[in-house]
Amino acid sequence: MLCFDVDGETTALSEDPALASRLTTMSQCEYGPNVGVPRLLGLLDHLQVPATFFVPSYIAEQHPRMMEAIVSRGHEVGAHGHLHEKLAHLTPNEERSILEKSTGILERITGKRPVGFRAPWFEINPGTTDLLAAHGFLYNASLMGDDVPYMHPNGLIEIPGQWMLEDWEQFAFNAEPAWGSLPENCAKVFDLWWREFEAMHDFGCCFVLTLHPWLSGRPSRVRLLEELLTKAHARGNVWFARGHEIAEYVRDHPEARREVNFDHPASKP
Ligand SMILES: [Zn+2]
Repeated sequence: MLCFDVDGETTALSEDPALASRLTTMSQCEYGPNVGVPRLLGLLDHLQVPATFFVPSYIAEQHPRMMEAIVSRGHEVGAHGHLHEKLAHLTPNEERSILEKSTGILERITGKRPVGFRAPWFEINPGTTDLLAAHGFLYNASLMGDDVPYMHPNGLIEIPGQWMLEDWEQFAFNAEPAWGSLPENCAKVFDLWWREFEAMHDFGCCFVLTLHPWLSGRPSRVRLLEELLTKAHARGNVWFARGHEIAEYVRDHPEARREVNFDHPASKP
């Protein structure tokens, strides 16, 4: 599952609205929707790989042409807050109203109600999965407790991720405010991700890669992704799928869930 978290300007604005006047910081964030997404869409077209784009609804409103380009290619759009709000800082009422607002905006812009949710910063609250299920969501892609998808007691599917398969830790850097550390060499990141891919392939896992277009839309990193996807495709026996397809599969195939299957292939070396 290839995920693009298109945080754009909310990367800065959710931290501090006053950063709106820090034009270099803002321009780095805008690089994502304006340059990174078109370039990454070109790569996905070229390789014929589907992806899931988690978009804060504020960004969807600011970049209508980007949304049109994502939707017209058949990629999935999932919910990711309005202004990329950290859920831990919200009351249950605020969390519900932001979820309703953001799904309403995405539905109006894309013509489809989102069924997938990725929490900003991956962090959810104790009530989040019930809130998502009550609002008709099919899946959450925010927890990290497994490497195959599973079902919550309320029927919501979880597609777990992990920090190792995230580009922020590898590539993010901003001087002030200080974000990230030193941008990593693509060759080292390729090695990190490919080793995990190969091992996950052997174990029968769900490889969930999470990329931010302002980081992974830079030229050498698009090449890195091209190389990774090409090599993964050549490995064979790989399903490149959107989040909702994975969730529908897990919902309809109880034997694919680890909690009802102690002989799950992902447990066997
Ligand atoms: Zn995000």
